[in-house]
Amino acid sequence: MKIQFLGGAREIGGSCIAVESKGEKVALDYGIKVGEKAPNQLPKDFDAVLISHAHLDHSGSLLNLSRGNPIIVGSKITREVTTDLLHDMIKIQHMNGNSFPYTKQDANNISNSWWIRDAIALPGMSIQLYPAGHVAGANMIGVHADGKEILYTGDFCLHGTEILEGSKTENLPEEPDALILESTYGGQKRPPREELIAQLFEQILSTIERKGNVLIPAFAFHRSQEMAKRIDQAMEDDVLPDYNVYTISKLAHRITGHFNSCKQFFTKEIQKQKHPFNYRHVKQLRTTKRIEEPAIVICTSGFGHAGASLHLLNKWADEEDNSVVINSGYLPPDSPLKIAKEKGELFNNGDKMLVQAEVEQIELSGHADQEELVQLVTALKPKKTFLIHGELEQAKALSEKITEITEVYIPQARETIAM
Ligand SMILES: [Zn+2]
Repeated sequence: MKIQFLGGAREIGGSCIAVESKGEKVALDYGIKVGEKAPNQLPKDFDAVLISHAHLDHSGSLLNLSRGNPIIVGSKITREVTTDLLHDMIKIQHMNGNSFPYTKQDANNISNSWWIRDAIALPGMSIQLYPAGHVAGANMIGVHADGKEILYTGDFCLHGTEILEGSKTENLPEEPDALILESTYGGQKRPPREELIAQLFEQILSTIERKGNVLIPAFAFHRSQEMAKRIDQAMEDDVLPDYNVYTISKLAHRITGHFNSCKQFFTKEIQKQKHPFNYRHVKQLRTTKRIEEPAIVICTSGFGHAGASLHLLNKWADEEDNSVVINSGYLPPDSPLKIAKEKGELFNNGDKMLVQAEVEQIELSGHADQEELVQLVTALKPKKTFLIHGELEQAKALSEKITEITEVYIPQARETIAM
């Protein structure tokens, strides 16, 4: 068996791993590089392409395959959300006047080529998917061929959240010949989740007390729904007082529809509710014009680059009664949120503005931190572990922690390993 790391080695973005046995060749993920506009030039000669989850750094190059007859395998919610995100990518490219060689039909072709499965058998190769936590519908991918077993984690976490269970190590294959492990936060430990949630509610409460606005930039997929449900439930349980709460993002609202119709992916508590993502206290708005202040607003884009979050950041950041809650761990260097947080300034159409609002980063991540990564390796005892999907220093920090349990290797981009 051969494993080739086509993308996501020593970096985050463009995840794609080719696994080739005597008879078959499959791709594990088919992602796009962060910040890049066009799909990556990845090989197309795969018997099947398995998609771990709907983040574009794992699925965003699929348009490359739209004019062949690909077999794409993944969960239902991964299919629905990937299709929405590809449509959105095409729309943005055309809106910006870029020459982009794909149309809506190409995104639909991807959806039509999708096999919703949690296991498939190819001649000489069997593949099994395992829930990975992280985001709705995310899976780890196990491949069995040539007498070897490998497990690719995709992005995962062991901790559960208000809406999603974490991955369960007892359901995963023990002592695989190779574990291909994400290492995004390989060098970092996070405070317990309850502490972070308490911090979030304190920030919201203190802003409510001074009748300020709370801006929560969030990604359209999963983080947005999870935050809305969290705040909705807190108001239902009187943990937070009633206040105007809105979500603004057409894309997020469409994805919320999939969440309601795919309840089986969520916690038992969520499954008991009839329409769990039809919120009682949180209203969906199409534009910022309809906001009745003071309010809590969950909106896109997640990094404050564009859309409602950029508009409200510019509108609200110079008032000290307001607050901005960043729940992403990573922020691109040029993102308005990063500049607002670290330098206390913003540039609105070229005019510099001082940030007076409180800017708090409360990292409610869907990735495993170092403790969870070590916990997974300890439970599975893989013979070999390849660290990917992380900056080199994160991978090295993790490597030090697991080297006594497993043989660790940090592959380079495009490197091929024979098993
Ligand atoms: Zn992800």
